[in-house]
Amino acid sequence: MRRRPAFAAALAVVPALGHVYLRRWSRGLAWLALLAGSALVFAGVFGVDGLAPASLGRSLAAGLRLGVPLAVVLALSAADAYVLARRDARPTGIACPRCGRGVDLSIGFCWYCSVEFEYVDE
Ligand SMILES: [Zn+2]
Repeated sequence: MRRRPAFAAALAVVPALGHVYLRRWSRGLAWLALLAGSALVFAGVFGVDGLAPASLGRSLAAGLRLGVPLAVVLALSAADAYVLARRDARPTGIACPRCGRGVDLSIGFCWYCSVEFEYVDE
């Protein structure tokens, strides 16, 4: 099934949702793990240790610094989802005899005009 690359990239703003849309479960999980790992590492680097009221101002500044690397990871995840969706959308090289669009032979009919395919042994 073809999936829209821009939509996949937009969904990837929510961690791993773009990959779920593409049904790339393990890859989505890997991006989620990378995001969580990055959050832990950068929280340690920038000293974000909870939001205690006394250190709220300091935590807010540290939180903003933490947000930048996490936004970079999210942007890379979105770019990955976009590239995957574009690769998946590439035509198979076999066109539907009725409408001429690319077909996915794993389903027995044209996704666009619903004509069913007959297989002929050569
Ligand atoms: Zn067709």
